Amino acid sequence: CGIVGYIGYQDVKEILLRGLEKLEYRGYDSAGIAVLNENGVHVFKEKGRIADLRRIVDPNVKATIGIGHTRWATHGAPSRVNAHPHQSASGRFTLVHNGVIENYEMLKRDYLADVEFRSDTDTEVIVQLVEQFVRDGLTTEEAFRQTLSLLKGSYAIAMIDAENEETLYAAKNKSPLLAGLGDGFNVVASDAMAMLQVTNQFVELMDGEMVIVTSENVTIQTLNGETVERKPFTAELDA
Ligand code: GLU
Repeated sequence: CGIVGYIGYQDVKEILLRGLEKLEYRGYDSAGIAVLNENGVHVFKEKGRIADLRRIVDPNVKATIGIGHTRWATHGAPSRVNAHPHQSASGRFTLVHNGVIENYEMLKRDYLADVEFRSDTDTEVIVQLVEQFVRDGLTTEEAFRQTLSLLKGSYAIAMIDAENEETLYAAKNKSPLLAGLGDGFNVVASDAMAMLQVTNQFVELMDGEMVIVTSENVTIQTLNGETVERKPFTAELDA
């Protein structure tokens, strides 16, 4: 299973699909991507191989921000509905997740009793919580942070907000995730290999950190909102 995300200027579909192909060796049962442009969010997901996903991705959709996922099902059978990305009730937030949210049933009960869930995954609770907290008046960044602070378990997450084409949100705890740095673009990936196609400069993320990614900046923060400075490393090109 794996995660990729890109924000910049190139057509994102091919970068995400190529990235997911590089992660195929890790094993997966379904895959999906979501891209955002001036017409909104476009989600393509399918049970099976990346080759199956490629067949359903609309070649006419052009976008420069997007996220992608290969799923190894832990909660909910492998299916198109349970494949990631998952969306919040209104469709505003779209998210991919690797890992297991141990307290998802409790979070559903305590915060999301009125929300109609569409999948059987533990993951969906994350994206529904973000929307709930934004409805309560928080900014997306605050809602993302608030949500993360409630999660117990393991996660690598990437999220987009349909109302903001300029920002990608990501976070990690006990599941791998890196940020990758480019000239006019930035990326996230669960393995550098997925993004060696566009950069070999990566920044490590630590457990409990979130990252705000724009095409120009990668800002790492603790869940207390403190900014973390960290130097990039060069990934081996023959990795
Ligand atoms: N627990 C999530 C699910 O079952 C994510 C699994 C994964 O790491 O791919 O959908």
